[in-house]
Amino acid sequence: MPLKDPTLLRQAALVAGEWIDAGEDGIAVTNPATGEVIGRVPKLGAAETHKAIAAAELAQREWAARTARERSVVLRRWFELMMENQDDLGRILTLEQGKPLAEAKGEIAYGASFIEWFAEEARRVYGDIIPGHQRDKRILVMKQPIGVVAAITPWNFPNAMITRKAGPALAAGCAMVLKPAAQTPFSAIALGVLGERAGLPKGLFSVVTGSAREIGAEMTSNPVVRKLTFTGSTEVGAELYRQSAPTIKKLGLELGGNAPFIVFDDADLDAAVEGALIAKFRNNGQTCVCANRLYVQDGVYDAFAEKLSRAVGTLKTGNGFDEGVVLGPLIDEPALKKVEEHVADALSKGATVIQGGRRHALGGTFYEATVLANVTQDMAVATEETFGPVAPLFRFKDEADVIAKANDTEFGLASYFYAKDLARVFRVAEALEYGMVGVNTGLISTAEAPFGGVKSSGLGREGSKYGIDDFIEIKYVCLGGV
Ligand code: ADP
Repeated sequence: MPLKDPTLLRQAALVAGEWIDAGEDGIAVTNPATGEVIGRVPKLGAAETHKAIAAAELAQREWAARTARERSVVLRRWFELMMENQDDLGRILTLEQGKPLAEAKGEIAYGASFIEWFAEEARRVYGDIIPGHQRDKRILVMKQPIGVVAAITPWNFPNAMITRKAGPALAAGCAMVLKPAAQTPFSAIALGVLGERAGLPKGLFSVVTGSAREIGAEMTSNPVVRKLTFTGSTEVGAELYRQSAPTIKKLGLELGGNAPFIVFDDADLDAAVEGALIAKFRNNGQTCVCANRLYVQDGVYDAFAEKLSRAVGTLKTGNGFDEGVVLGPLIDEPALKKVEEHVADALSKGATVIQGGRRHALGGTFYEATVLANVTQDMAVATEETFGPVAPLFRFKDEADVIAKANDTEFGLASYFYAKDLARVFRVAEALEYGMVGVNTGLISTAEAPFGGVKSSGLGREGSKYGIDDFIEIKYVCLGGV
């Protein structure tokens, strides 16, 4: 599948403004749909990360000294270049991640929207003047960039999880050193290529590929790094939190979820099925906001189960480049094993398969789109993120019961419910212990809204007018003798 601009698929890392080629012993990146090697990226470690951080420190000072509008113009150009190259970026994404091409292009537009949004927000970082506490004093509040930011991102959104961090960081006047996921570095590198073309100053944005442990250790221990922003598992997030403690870094953590999707008796069932398809099966179930547990009220359980399994039966699984495919492969073998284990565990405890339920005939890491019925709270699917195309249906009796079950998890990222009664809508939205609640919709992510979780799902918010706060320090200036 040739690219219009083959230079976007670059087998090199961008460190301190210089490109480092992968060479023969670089890390191989494979296409999860075919197992074929797409290319290689350099295996870098602490030394290169250190160099990238030092260059970022220098570049950041000059970048922060520019006017907000000057920064905004460069970011705007970066956004435009992403959209001009949407097809190629989408192809690179499908090649390394597996999601269907249409969905990959959708991610590019979604990812670019964060650069666009924060290019706009750059000019709206306002300070304050607060009424003073003494007659001869004035209280000023300045907002300044936090400095050098380190970012570590996952493979499920190889583009958007980067832009959601880089957009606000650079808009605020920070520099960024990024370590993308080993499975999907080429989307990150392509962003580096376009960033250079857009006019990001040398060293302001580095993309370091290689050993996660080594790069992570340097990022967390280096005192120049003032903030670490991470999207990934709760386990690794907690480890990075620990590692960042000695240098008291600010942390932005977008971690795991275990999203409940609740269908009440008064819901519009067709809309709920449509929402469940999106919330559960987008990216083949591999998003941290994917519905993990579908709770359906007694009165509509059978009807919903039937409608959902019929709809799921029509979803086509295959290579993301093939026509009509809506579900790609799982990212790798461990991901496939986890899905298999969750289904086996549920079946051994009394669940039944009403759709799918096995590895796909295509082989590789493909798994059938699956619906399970008679699922109960003692099964692994109730407590762990499955991260695959499995919709487990739990039955519930009343509102209090389902809220208790929905909140009975260490996680608190996204939640969804379908209901019409207005009082219920408010009651349930307020009672769910989650950072995000989708009411009568299965798709909630957008640049305009604050994305983030509570409890073990993380710290901070990305996107929206709040997203830039995470990259800003507040400075209080007390003006005396006035
Ligand atoms: P996922 O389950 O989404 O793969 P991970 O938390 O394992 O989530 O990975 C998310 C990101 O964190 C990836 O870029 C990965 O390489 C990186 N990572 C994994 N382990 C470490 C570590 N010990 N230190 C720093 N980064 C890590």
